[in-house]
Amino acid sequence: MFMKNYYSILGVTPDSSDAEIKKAYRNLARKYHPDINPSGAQMFKDISEAYETLSDEKKRLQYDTINGFFKSAPKDEKTFTSSEKANDEYKKSSQKQEKKPKKTKDYSKKINEILNNLNKKKTNKPQPKNGSDITEEITVTLKEVSAGTTKVVNVMHTSSCPHCKGRKFINGAHCPVCNGSGEKNEHKKISVKIPAGVKNGSKLRIKDEGNRGENGGKNGDLYLKVKIEPSSKMKFDGSDILYNVPITPVEAVLGAKISVPSLDGNVSLKIPPQTKNGQKFRLAGQGLKQGSKSGDMIVTVYIEIPSSLSDDEIKLYEKLKKMSSKDIRENLLNE
Ligand SMILES: [Zn+2]
Repeated sequence: MFMKNYYSILGVTPDSSDAEIKKAYRNLARKYHPDINPSGAQMFKDISEAYETLSDEKKRLQYDTINGFFKSAPKDEKTFTSSEKANDEYKKSSQKQEKKPKKTKDYSKKINEILNNLNKKKTNKPQPKNGSDITEEITVTLKEVSAGTTKVVNVMHTSSCPHCKGRKFINGAHCPVCNGSGEKNEHKKISVKIPAGVKNGSKLRIKDEGNRGENGGKNGDLYLKVKIEPSSKMKFDGSDILYNVPITPVEAVLGAKISVPSLDGNVSLKIPPQTKNGQKFRLAGQGLKQGSKSGDMIVTVYIEIPSSLSDDEIKLYEKLKKMSSKDIRENLLNE
């Protein structure tokens, strides 16, 4: 049994795109709508039936297979906007229809619903949408913090897919541009100045570099959460900072006031005379901030011999050696 030729009913071909079929259907539906053309009832029924099959990807494929219709070439989706004019015309005629008494034919009601839904999508003015903020973490070394630096961050901006407008589907199929994600992702390299003395955990705000606003909406902002990288000399223990700091033998013996780079700039630490290797000093409140509280910085000093000593220094050490009266190894066997 040969079924009705839906393509010739709609005046299209098996090569016609979904958009072309939709456009043809709209034109005919308008022409043969029973409210406008009472003698067009059968024709209207036929075109509705044809459209119901050809607008549904699965049904169309099934229909084509049974009846031996084949496409000659892959379709192009570009024609989608060409139906906008037809749309406007339909709007006018649908406004006229509202004034007329309602007919109660089920299918015409159903078709009206479909047409209205199609129109709704087109006539809804795109609303301005503000872009959301982006928060990223940025890692800096303590050295970079103490001097200030410039870092390049790679930010991914996400916005609605321009092809499907974020709807993910086009004519029942996944949008070919975004593969059905509805999103467009854009990578951008942004150069950011990190001010000297920036605090661990603080947030740098870069205005307008968040996700893109759409339809005239504002861009979001980019927030960079600063993370100061632990180093071989600095470890974090909860909110405490554990810091290994070298001192010279002279400083160990005589005591000194040394400067220790911290997350809040340099802090001064007083080393008392005759400080031992491995001795610990606690600097209260110089650790990481956690909420309103701050941890401590615990400095462990170790004695380091300067890598280059002048002749004069060596001479002084020699003098010291001669002068040293106490043998620090005298109790080695006794203990
Ligand atoms: Zn898309």
